[in-house]
Amino acid sequence: MKLKIKVVEAPFLFHQLMCLLGLHAWISLGNTIYVRQGELRNKSLIRHKIKHIEQMELHGKFLFSIKYILLCIRYGIAKNPFEVEARSTLGDEQISVKSGDKHRSSRI
Ligand SMILES: [Zn+2]
Repeated sequence: MKLKIKVVEAPFLFHQLMCLLGLHAWISLGNTIYVRQGELRNKSLIRHKIKHIEQMELHGKFLFSIKYILLCIRYGIAKNPFEVEARSTLGDEQISVKSGDKHRSSRI
């Protein structure tokens, strides 16, 4: 499955909100992964979020959201099968993250 995914550092206020909510990354509906400032090279985090994007593409974004919430209610977030699968991607798969422009965005 070939997906167009963009990874960017969250703008300041969004970064602050993510810190308040305890989030290290956020996925937009447009397949952009926003990471906290300083986490642009955190390949494990990005790989995990890419797996969630793949899951969303497979199930459909709306159905994925509903299933994700229901599975969290049933199993808790740590044992949610979507999370278990996403954590299983933390192997040695190669991804390339490079920063270039002034916004430090990367396409992977
Ligand atoms: Zn996750």
